[in-house]
Amino acid sequence: MELFKGINQIKVPLPGENRGNVNVYIIEGASGNLMIDTGWNTTESFNTLAQEMKASGFAMKDITHIAITHAHPDHFGLAGKIVELVGAKVFMSDIEYNLIDSRYTHPEDLLSQMSTFLAANGVPDWELKMLTEASLNLRNGVYKLAKAEMLKPGDRIAMDPFQFQVVLTPGHARGHLCLYEPNKQYLFTGDQILAETAPIITYHPQSSENPLGDYITSLNTLEGLNVRFVFPGHGSVFSGLGAKIDDILHLHKDRIMKIQQVMGVETRNAYDVAKALPWLIDGEPVNYDKLEPIDKKQCVLETLAYLQYLVAENKGKKMNETEKVTYWSGE
Ligand SMILES: [Zn+2]
Repeated sequence: MELFKGINQIKVPLPGENRGNVNVYIIEGASGNLMIDTGWNTTESFNTLAQEMKASGFAMKDITHIAITHAHPDHFGLAGKIVELVGAKVFMSDIEYNLIDSRYTHPEDLLSQMSTFLAANGVPDWELKMLTEASLNLRNGVYKLAKAEMLKPGDRIAMDPFQFQVVLTPGHARGHLCLYEPNKQYLFTGDQILAETAPIITYHPQSSENPLGDYITSLNTLEGLNVRFVFPGHGSVFSGLGAKIDDILHLHKDRIMKIQQVMGVETRNAYDVAKALPWLIDGEPVNYDKLEPIDKKQCVLETLAYLQYLVAENKGKKMNETEKVTYWSGE
Protein backbone atom coordinates (compact mmCIF):
# COMPACT_ATOMS: atom_id res chain seq x y z
CA MET A 1 0.00 0.00 0.00
CA GLU A 2 1.37 3.42 -0.95
CA LEU A 3 1.27 5.64 2.15
CA PHE A 4 2.96 8.71 0.69
CA LYS A 5 4.36 9.33 -2.75
CA GLY A 6 7.09 6.75 -3.26
CA ILE A 7 6.69 5.19 0.20
CA ASN A 8 4.97 1.81 0.32
CA GLN A 9 4.20 -0.32 3.35
CA ILE A 10 3.60 -4.07 3.36
CA LYS A 11 2.49 -5.95 6.45
CA VAL A 12 4.21 -9.32 6.55
CA PRO A 13 2.85 -11.88 9.04
CA LEU A 14 5.00 -13.26 11.85
CA PRO A 15 4.84 -16.99 12.56
CA GLY A 16 2.53 -18.29 15.31
CA GLU A 17 -1.00 -17.34 16.20
CA ASN A 18 -1.72 -13.72 17.15
CA ARG A 19 1.90 -12.74 16.78
CA GLY A 20 1.08 -9.84 14.45
CA ASN A 21 3.03 -8.41 11.53
CA VAL A 22 6.26 -6.72 10.72
CA ASN A 23 6.27 -3.70 8.42
CA VAL A 24 8.32 -3.90 5.26
CA TYR A 25 8.75 -0.56 3.47
CA ILE A 26 9.53 -0.14 -0.20
CA ILE A 27 10.94 3.21 -1.23
CA GLU A 28 10.73 4.09 -4.90
CA GLY A 29 13.85 5.77 -6.23
CA ALA A 30 14.56 7.12 -9.70
CA SER A 31 17.00 4.33 -10.50
CA GLY A 32 16.11 1.60 -8.02
CA ASN A 33 13.97 0.61 -5.08
CA LEU A 34 14.98 0.27 -1.46
CA MET A 35 13.36 -2.30 0.83
CA ILE A 36 13.59 -1.48 4.54
CA ASP A 37 13.46 -4.74 6.55
CA THR A 38 12.20 -7.96 5.05
CA GLY A 39 10.06 -10.20 7.27
CA TRP A 40 10.61 -13.59 8.88
CA ASN A 41 11.96 -16.44 6.80
CA THR A 42 8.85 -18.61 6.37
CA THR A 43 7.07 -19.63 3.19
CA GLU A 44 3.96 -17.81 4.37
CA SER A 45 5.85 -14.55 5.02
CA PHE A 46 7.65 -14.72 1.70
CA ASN A 47 4.46 -15.47 -0.23
CA THR A 48 2.57 -12.65 1.47
CA LEU A 49 5.43 -10.25 0.77
CA ALA A 50 5.54 -11.26 -2.91
CA GLN A 51 1.74 -11.07 -3.32
CA GLU A 52 1.40 -7.72 -1.61
CA MET A 53 4.32 -6.34 -3.59
CA LYS A 54 2.61 -7.46 -6.78
CA ALA A 55 -0.63 -5.78 -5.70
CA SER A 56 1.36 -2.55 -5.25
CA GLY A 57 2.98 -2.92 -8.68
CA PHE A 58 6.39 -4.35 -7.69
CA ALA A 59 8.12 -7.54 -8.72
CA MET A 60 10.83 -8.96 -6.44
CA LYS A 61 13.42 -8.14 -9.11
CA ASP A 62 12.56 -4.44 -8.77
CA ILE A 63 14.29 -4.42 -5.37
CA THR A 64 17.83 -3.17 -5.88
CA HIS A 65 18.74 -2.34 -2.24
CA ILE A 66 17.76 -3.69 1.16
CA ALA A 67 18.43 -1.84 4.42
CA ILE A 68 18.18 -3.82 7.66
CA THR A 69 17.42 -2.00 10.92
CA HIS A 70 18.70 -4.92 13.04
CA ALA A 71 19.44 -8.62 12.74
CA HIS A 72 16.35 -10.06 14.44
CA PRO A 73 14.52 -12.66 12.33
CA ASP A 74 11.36 -10.59 11.81
CA HIS A 75 13.35 -7.75 10.23
CA PHE A 76 16.23 -9.58 8.65
CA GLY A 77 15.04 -13.17 8.04
CA LEU A 78 14.24 -12.98 4.33
CA ALA A 79 17.13 -10.74 3.25
CA GLY A 80 19.38 -13.64 2.22
CA LYS A 81 16.60 -15.23 0.20
CA ILE A 82 15.77 -12.02 -1.68
CA VAL A 83 19.47 -11.47 -2.41
CA GLU A 84 19.75 -15.00 -3.75
CA LEU A 85 16.71 -14.47 -5.99
CA VAL A 86 17.38 -10.99 -7.36
CA GLY A 87 20.88 -9.96 -6.25
CA ALA A 88 19.88 -6.87 -4.27
CA LYS A 89 22.56 -5.08 -2.24
CA VAL A 90 22.07 -5.37 1.54
CA PHE A 91 23.03 -2.59 3.96
CA MET A 92 23.24 -3.06 7.73
CA SER A 93 25.41 -2.03 10.66
CA ASP A 94 28.66 -3.95 11.07
CA ILE A 95 27.75 -4.59 14.71
CA GLU A 96 24.63 -6.51 13.71
CA TYR A 97 26.29 -8.23 10.76
CA ASN A 98 29.04 -9.55 13.00
CA LEU A 99 26.52 -11.20 15.33
CA ILE A 100 24.80 -13.27 12.64
CA ASP A 101 27.19 -16.20 12.52
CA SER A 102 27.30 -16.77 16.28
CA ARG A 103 23.53 -16.53 16.57
CA TYR A 104 22.11 -18.27 13.56
CA THR A 105 24.81 -20.37 11.89
CA HIS A 106 27.14 -21.63 14.62
CA PRO A 107 25.28 -21.05 17.91
CA GLU A 108 27.16 -23.63 20.05
CA ASP A 109 29.45 -21.12 21.79
CA LEU A 110 26.64 -18.67 22.40
CA LEU A 111 24.47 -21.44 23.89
CA SER A 112 27.16 -22.38 26.35
CA GLN A 113 27.77 -18.69 27.24
CA MET A 114 24.02 -18.20 27.70
CA SER A 115 23.75 -21.25 29.97
CA THR A 116 26.59 -20.00 32.20
CA PHE A 117 25.11 -16.49 32.17
CA LEU A 118 21.58 -17.60 33.11
CA ALA A 119 22.87 -19.91 35.84
CA ALA A 120 25.00 -17.09 37.30
CA ASN A 121 21.91 -14.89 37.35
CA GLY A 122 19.92 -17.42 39.36
CA VAL A 123 18.05 -19.61 36.86
CA PRO A 124 17.79 -22.97 38.67
CA ASP A 125 19.11 -26.22 37.19
CA TRP A 126 15.69 -27.61 36.33
CA GLU A 127 14.85 -24.59 34.15
CA LEU A 128 18.30 -23.91 32.78
CA LYS A 129 18.35 -26.05 29.64
CA MET A 130 14.79 -25.03 28.74
CA LEU A 131 15.59 -21.31 28.92
CA THR A 132 19.02 -21.62 27.32
CA GLU A 133 17.59 -23.37 24.28
CA ALA A 134 14.33 -21.38 24.12
CA SER A 135 15.49 -19.22 21.20
CA LEU A 136 17.07 -22.03 19.16
CA ASN A 137 14.07 -22.24 16.84
CA LEU A 138 14.62 -18.63 15.82
CA ARG A 139 17.50 -19.86 13.71
CA ASN A 140 15.00 -21.16 11.15
CA GLY A 141 13.63 -17.64 10.85
CA VAL A 142 16.79 -16.46 9.13
CA TYR A 143 17.82 -17.34 5.58
CA LYS A 144 21.58 -17.44 5.13
CA LEU A 145 22.94 -14.11 3.89
CA ALA A 146 26.10 -14.31 1.79
CA LYS A 147 27.32 -10.72 2.24
CA ALA A 148 26.28 -7.19 3.17
CA GLU A 149 27.63 -3.65 2.95
CA MET A 150 28.37 -2.09 6.32
CA LEU A 151 26.71 1.13 7.40
CA LYS A 152 28.20 3.62 9.84
CA PRO A 153 26.40 6.46 11.64
CA GLY A 154 26.08 9.44 9.32
CA ASP A 155 26.30 7.34 6.14
CA ARG A 156 23.78 8.16 3.45
CA ILE A 157 21.70 5.95 1.20
CA ALA A 158 20.71 7.89 -1.90
CA MET A 159 17.41 6.81 -3.44
CA ASP A 160 16.73 9.90 -5.48
CA PRO A 161 14.53 11.87 -4.65
CA PHE A 162 15.01 10.44 -1.14
CA GLN A 163 18.27 10.79 0.79
CA PHE A 164 18.44 8.61 3.87
CA GLN A 165 20.78 9.31 6.75
CA VAL A 166 21.87 6.44 8.95
CA VAL A 167 21.28 7.04 12.67
CA LEU A 168 22.75 4.44 15.01
CA THR A 169 20.27 3.72 17.81
CA PRO A 170 21.64 0.95 20.06
CA GLY A 171 19.40 -0.45 22.78
CA HIS A 172 16.85 -2.97 21.51
CA ALA A 173 19.71 -4.40 19.46
CA ARG A 174 23.34 -3.43 19.86
CA GLY A 175 23.76 -2.24 16.27
CA HIS A 176 20.18 -1.11 15.65
CA LEU A 177 19.83 1.73 13.17
CA CYS A 178 17.11 4.09 12.02
CA LEU A 179 16.87 5.77 8.63
CA TYR A 180 16.08 9.47 8.50
CA GLU A 181 14.95 11.38 5.42
CA PRO A 182 15.61 15.05 6.33
CA ASN A 183 13.83 16.72 3.41
CA LYS A 184 10.54 14.93 3.91
CA GLN A 185 11.21 14.56 7.65
CA TYR A 186 10.42 10.87 7.62
CA LEU A 187 11.95 8.55 10.21
CA PHE A 188 12.04 4.75 9.77
CA THR A 189 12.53 3.38 13.26
CA GLY A 190 12.61 -0.44 13.08
CA ASP A 191 12.07 -1.60 16.66
CA GLN A 192 13.58 1.48 18.28
CA ILE A 193 10.16 3.14 18.40
CA LEU A 194 6.97 1.16 17.86
CA ALA A 195 3.47 2.47 17.30
CA GLU A 196 1.60 0.73 20.11
CA THR A 197 4.12 -0.67 22.58
CA ALA A 198 7.64 -0.03 23.83
CA PRO A 199 10.36 -2.35 22.56
CA ILE A 200 11.88 -4.96 24.84
CA ILE A 201 15.37 -4.13 26.07
CA THR A 202 17.45 -7.04 27.34
CA TYR A 203 20.88 -7.59 28.87
CA HIS A 204 22.61 -10.75 27.64
CA PRO A 205 26.06 -12.10 26.71
CA GLN A 206 26.08 -10.20 23.39
CA SER A 207 24.65 -6.88 24.61
CA SER A 208 26.53 -3.88 25.96
CA GLU A 209 26.88 -3.47 29.74
CA ASN A 210 23.96 -1.03 29.86
CA PRO A 211 21.53 -1.58 26.96
CA LEU A 212 18.70 0.36 28.64
CA GLY A 213 21.03 3.34 29.12
CA ASP A 214 22.02 3.04 25.44
CA TYR A 215 18.37 2.90 24.46
CA ILE A 216 17.50 6.05 26.41
CA THR A 217 20.50 7.85 24.86
CA SER A 218 19.24 6.74 21.42
CA LEU A 219 15.81 8.19 22.18
CA ASN A 220 17.49 11.50 23.00
CA THR A 221 19.35 11.37 19.67
CA LEU A 222 16.08 10.89 17.80
CA GLU A 223 14.36 13.63 19.76
CA GLY A 224 16.81 16.09 18.22
CA LEU A 225 15.59 15.36 14.67
CA ASN A 226 12.77 17.19 12.90
CA VAL A 227 10.29 14.43 12.21
CA ARG A 228 6.83 14.70 10.66
CA PHE A 229 6.09 10.99 10.33
CA VAL A 230 7.42 7.91 12.08
CA PHE A 231 7.44 4.62 10.15
CA PRO A 232 7.82 1.90 12.79
CA GLY A 233 8.74 -1.74 12.31
CA HIS A 234 5.42 -2.83 13.83
CA GLY A 235 2.07 -0.99 13.93
CA SER A 236 0.84 2.07 12.06
CA VAL A 237 2.66 5.13 10.82
CA PHE A 238 2.19 8.05 13.20
CA SER A 239 3.20 11.65 13.89
CA GLY A 240 4.13 13.09 17.28
CA LEU A 241 7.55 11.56 17.90
CA GLY A 242 8.25 13.74 20.98
CA ALA A 243 5.06 12.63 22.75
CA LYS A 244 5.79 8.99 21.93
CA ILE A 245 9.29 9.28 23.35
CA ASP A 246 7.85 10.82 26.54
CA ASP A 247 5.40 7.90 26.83
CA ILE A 248 8.21 5.36 26.48
CA LEU A 249 10.40 7.13 29.05
CA HIS A 250 7.48 7.28 31.45
CA LEU A 251 6.86 3.57 31.07
CA HIS A 252 10.49 2.77 31.84
CA LYS A 253 10.43 5.08 34.87
CA ASP A 254 7.41 3.19 36.26
CA ARG A 255 9.11 -0.12 35.67
CA ILE A 256 12.35 1.09 37.25
CA MET A 257 10.42 2.10 40.38
CA LYS A 258 8.77 -1.33 40.60
CA ILE A 259 12.13 -3.04 40.22
CA GLN A 260 13.69 -0.82 42.89
CA GLN A 261 10.90 -1.85 45.28
CA VAL A 262 11.59 -5.53 44.64
CA MET A 263 15.35 -5.09 44.69
CA GLY A 264 15.48 -4.12 48.39
CA VAL A 265 18.40 -3.83 50.74
CA GLU A 266 19.34 -7.50 50.61
CA THR A 267 21.09 -8.96 47.59
CA ARG A 268 18.88 -10.81 45.10
CA ASN A 269 19.60 -12.43 41.80
CA ALA A 270 17.84 -11.33 38.59
CA TYR A 271 15.81 -14.54 38.46
CA ASP A 272 14.26 -13.89 41.89
CA VAL A 273 13.54 -10.27 40.95
CA ALA A 274 11.91 -11.38 37.65
CA LYS A 275 9.74 -13.89 39.52
CA ALA A 276 8.54 -11.22 41.95
CA LEU A 277 7.40 -8.86 39.16
CA PRO A 278 4.08 -8.85 37.30
CA TRP A 279 4.49 -9.50 33.55
CA LEU A 280 2.22 -8.52 30.71
CA ILE A 281 1.81 -10.88 27.77
CA ASP A 282 -0.43 -9.52 24.98
CA GLY A 283 -1.69 -6.95 27.49
CA GLU A 284 -2.67 -9.56 30.11
CA PRO A 285 -0.90 -9.88 33.46
CA VAL A 286 0.73 -13.30 33.74
CA ASN A 287 2.75 -14.82 36.57
CA TYR A 288 6.30 -15.79 35.63
CA ASP A 289 5.65 -19.49 36.31
CA LYS A 290 2.85 -19.58 33.74
CA LEU A 291 5.00 -18.25 30.89
CA GLU A 292 6.42 -20.13 27.92
CA PRO A 293 10.20 -20.77 28.16
CA ILE A 294 11.02 -18.11 25.56
CA ASP A 295 9.00 -15.51 27.46
CA LYS A 296 10.57 -16.57 30.78
CA LYS A 297 13.99 -16.06 29.29
CA GLN A 298 12.98 -12.61 27.97
CA CYS A 299 11.69 -11.66 31.44
CA VAL A 300 14.97 -12.57 33.14
CA LEU A 301 17.02 -10.74 30.49
CA GLU A 302 14.71 -7.72 30.61
CA THR A 303 14.94 -7.59 34.41
CA LEU A 304 18.71 -7.70 34.03
CA ALA A 305 18.63 -4.69 31.68
CA TYR A 306 16.89 -2.68 34.43
CA LEU A 307 19.25 -3.92 37.13
CA GLN A 308 22.28 -3.07 35.01
CA TYR A 309 20.81 0.37 34.34
CA LEU A 310 20.32 1.01 38.06
CA VAL A 311 23.93 0.04 38.72
CA ALA A 312 25.16 2.35 35.92
CA GLU A 313 23.07 5.18 37.38
CA ASN A 314 24.49 4.58 40.88
CA LYS A 315 21.07 3.56 42.15
CA GLY A 316 21.99 -0.03 42.72
CA LYS A 317 24.95 -2.27 43.40
CA LYS A 318 26.08 -5.45 41.76
CA MET A 319 27.97 -8.24 43.44
CA ASN A 320 29.83 -10.41 40.99
CA GLU A 321 31.11 -13.48 42.79
CA THR A 322 32.36 -16.61 41.10
CA GLU A 323 29.42 -18.08 39.21
CA LYS A 324 26.91 -15.94 41.11
CA VAL A 325 25.66 -12.44 40.33
CA THR A 326 23.38 -10.50 42.68
CA TYR A 327 22.07 -6.96 42.94
CA TRP A 328 20.86 -4.78 45.79
CA SER A 329 19.82 -1.19 46.38
CA GLY A 330 23.22 -0.28 47.80
CA GLU A 331 21.75 1.41 50.86
ZN1 LIG B 1 10.66 -6.56 15.40
